[in-house]
Amino acid sequence: MQDHIELTGGCLCGDIRYTTIAMPFAADYCHCKMCQRSTGSIAGIWMDFLAEQVVWQSRQQLQEFASSEFARRGFCSRCGSTLSYRDERHSNYLSLAVASLDDADKVQPTYHIFTDSQLAWLRIDDDCRRHPQTQKE
Ligand SMILES: [Zn+2]
Ligand SMILES: [Zn+2]
Repeated sequence: MQDHIELTGGCLCGDIRYTTIAMPFAADYCHCKMCQRSTGSIAGIWMDFLAEQVVWQSRQQLQEFASSEFARRGFCSRCGSTLSYRDERHSNYLSLAVASLDDADKVQPTYHIFTDSQLAWLRIDDDCRRHPQTQKE
């Protein structure tokens, strides 16, 4: 029962594929240390959905790492790509990595969180709201 496809994406090796039936209700840069380390990048760049809006086409390789008591970070066990983030306390929501999209230009982050730990040399020239802390552990 897959009606309307808004977005498609997946991991680097292609074993994990997903579609979404809606555009994300939010998208953000998360500059927390855990997102930096987990993604191996400047920040976690996440888009947020209701869990039922994400349809996994294939997810056998998807594994989750418990990075805190409640946080679950999904990645491909074959190629290592960062795919998802969820909080067990809010099981109706699921975040996906914007960079996992086939066309990541379709989703633009609109705010920054955990800018307390933003890399000192990182310059992002936008007018987005900046929050020193909040969410995503
Ligand atoms: Zn993979
Ligand atoms: Zn984070």
